[in-house]
Amino acid sequence: MRRSILMAGVVLLAGISALAQATGGSAAKPEATISSFDLTAIDKSVDPCNDFYHYACGTWLKNNPIPADQSSWGRFNELHERNQTILRGILEKQSADTLGRSEINQKIGDYYYSCMDEAGIEAKGTGPVKPAIDSINGMTDKSQIPAVLGGLHRGGVRAFFGFDAEPDFKDSKVDIATADQGGLSLPDKDYYFKTDAKSVELREKLEKHIAKMFVLYGESPDQAAADAKTVMKVETELAKGSLNRTEQRDPAKIYHKMTVGDLQKDSPAFMWNQYFTTIQSPTFDSLNVAVPDFMKAMNQVIANNDLDTAKTYLRWQALHAAAPMLPKAFVEENFDYYGRTLRGAKELRPRWKRCVQYADGDLGEALGQAYVAETFPPEAKAHTLQMVHELEAALKTDIGELSWMSPGTKKQALEKLSRIDNKIGYPNKWRDYSSLNIVRGDAMGNSLRSNLFEFNRQLAKISKPVDRNEWGMTPPTVNAYYNPLENNVNFPAGILQPPFYDYKADDAINFGSIGVVIGHELTHGFDDEGSQFDADGNLRNWWTPQDKEQFTKLEDCFVKEYDGFVVVDDVHIKGDLTLGENTADNGGLRISHMALLDVLASNPEKTVDGFTPDQRFFLGYAQIWCENMTPQAARLQALSNEHSDPMYRVNGVVSNSSDFAKAWGCKPSAPMVRNPACRVW
Ligand SMILES: [Zn+2]
Repeated sequence: MRRSILMAGVVLLAGISALAQATGGSAAKPEATISSFDLTAIDKSVDPCNDFYHYACGTWLKNNPIPADQSSWGRFNELHERNQTILRGILEKQSADTLGRSEINQKIGDYYYSCMDEAGIEAKGTGPVKPAIDSINGMTDKSQIPAVLGGLHRGGVRAFFGFDAEPDFKDSKVDIATADQGGLSLPDKDYYFKTDAKSVELREKLEKHIAKMFVLYGESPDQAAADAKTVMKVETELAKGSLNRTEQRDPAKIYHKMTVGDLQKDSPAFMWNQYFTTIQSPTFDSLNVAVPDFMKAMNQVIANNDLDTAKTYLRWQALHAAAPMLPKAFVEENFDYYGRTLRGAKELRPRWKRCVQYADGDLGEALGQAYVAETFPPEAKAHTLQMVHELEAALKTDIGELSWMSPGTKKQALEKLSRIDNKIGYPNKWRDYSSLNIVRGDAMGNSLRSNLFEFNRQLAKISKPVDRNEWGMTPPTVNAYYNPLENNVNFPAGILQPPFYDYKADDAINFGSIGVVIGHELTHGFDDEGSQFDADGNLRNWWTPQDKEQFTKLEDCFVKEYDGFVVVDDVHIKGDLTLGENTADNGGLRISHMALLDVLASNPEKTVDGFTPDQRFFLGYAQIWCENMTPQAARLQALSNEHSDPMYRVNGVVSNSSDFAKAWGCKPSAPMVRNPACRVW
């Protein structure tokens, strides 16, 4: 569980393929630095008090259409592309020059070479996925399902459920085994049951996509159509037992520690010990069964259907997981559904971008070392840490001044704040990949071995003390997160770059952009979810009933505000799904502005380009959210993502800020002045 600044999906397009060939030889040069504060982005024909987002971003939006291989295009994407270009340079160098490489450079170089070797991948056909499919087809009895599923999980196939190690919510110093819901091909449970035309269409197209994947593997069209129906039926049954995204935000709904014996009683058709034996799990007595109803649903699927039904579902899951490293026809079919239909992208991203993404995903802390050396000097790390301390001081003042919170609860909140650990840029200790074998020319094998390496790494953590130095994001990632179970904030080097952060830029802009990002993550410790965990990262109520009641009432203001925002057609933002993020955006902006005022008090700044420091702060904030999205992507985000639409991340937040109204001289009746304004922190 972790709460980030933006949807992970912005950089992870599931649909993938190979229209553009890599040039192979020439190492790409990073593009020019992206500017922090962009005067040319502003549309002066818009009144900032009417619609601040279109004032700050209007011209940028007009001049930056969505590239054909993307489903959205914003400032995050600009930085992501710049990071990708740097990573490409590193990977091309290490893949071309095979003499005298260090161990990690051999791994990243040969991984990338193999991924880029489309001719080699084409020549192998479906051979690389055949062992997985054969293991499924070879079953003669349902009792073999746990062992076969265990084998698939080891190779990264996410069928039925997910299994890994996570901190025990109530004793967060120790990792425990965790079995969670999983095994669905659509982004959320609700997609299986909604009856509006768009949802029905998405399901029909998914069924067609599944059938096409079966045909590509060699099934007859009739058989494939029947099998696709079976997969949809199984997934719908699994979805019935699943929680939706909003429900999953409630820690109480995803924490059910039980003995292996009790889990076995709930799912008698699935022999858990066979599964644990196959995956070579260490022994343990109890585990977190995050969603018990899901395991019951899985049990019903296995018990109430014949073996062929389970086989068909597992074959689909295996093909789906393997698609990126299979021949072009699979890659393009995968893109057609997950890229084009679900997200509205027109073209597949060039192969090199996908291979950079996979290398980052599988070998992120090997590749990240070179990225950090190139982009993140020690002074940037030191300056970021200083900003985090300034933001923490502002949040401390803010909590101290709250009128709705009693002294006893404040004391607890301040204790929690003082113990937040700040992790900046990259891990203190890099992950050891020495046991992972990367073979030049074996793209699928490298992917399978990387998945097994990660799966085993998770298993090794069971019943061990939690390593809080570990990172949940790789260094080049353009994102950040707060982890409530560890009470720490994490800012990868990838986001500590222009336009989010420029340690040479003026304070007003830096506090408006990266300062709000830092404030956002700190505030996650105190949103509707984070506030349920204490300073140690344990799920424990530290609130008086009266304070909790007040808190919930104030949060409700945000729920109602964001429920009112329309994203596309009749699709509204879900105020409850996005509550934590909206709380973090609003609190983050407020405390970052407080921190800026503290800094300006001793180091005043002038008006620049006609904008006061306050105005530059708000422009700096708004401009990190300039973003064009396809209607499909906007819909997908509103329905299944915890983060609000970019326009409302700006207008929803600034309209609650009296500092904003003051900075821009907005009248009380202006659209960007909410009355009453919502505020928690
Ligand atoms: Zn967040």
